Amino acid sequence: MQDCLFCKIERGDIPATKVYQDEHVFAIKDIEPQAPFHFLIIPAKHVTTLNDLTEADNALVGHMHQIAKQLAQQHGFAETGYRTLFNCNRGGGQAVFHLHLHVLGGRQMSWPPG
Ligand code: AMP
Ligand code: ZN
Repeated sequence: MQDCLFCKIERGDIPATKVYQDEHVFAIKDIEPQAPFHFLIIPAKHVTTLNDLTEADNALVGHMHQIAKQLAQQHGFAETGYRTLFNCNRGGGQAVFHLHLHVLGGRQMSWPPG
């Protein structure tokens, strides 16, 4: 999509620190990290919110979690622990309307979230 931030990053129009890329997804460092490790795993195709996922996207969503696991292992926080989450729509805290999976690690997570 023309005016979508993450589509622009995917095209290389806006710089970001990429930590993973394949034909289906890419992952970047969050620009305002909420933990020592904070990655965003982003589908290459534009999906606006979690509400827009279909059954046909099941493999994509599973793949995003495999990449989360892989990044946690590579960066050494798989065993200490981490959090993955999707924010959906404004009330769920979503600010960028291109689906992305947050991966946060390297500090103790609290529950429930704020
Ligand atoms: P959400 O609130 O779930 O939509 O998350 C959007 C995330 O994107 C936030 O954690 C932002 O810090 C992050 N973000 C916004 N702009 C950029 C950018 N240019 N590069 C990397 N991360 C970004
Ligand atoms: Zn997009």
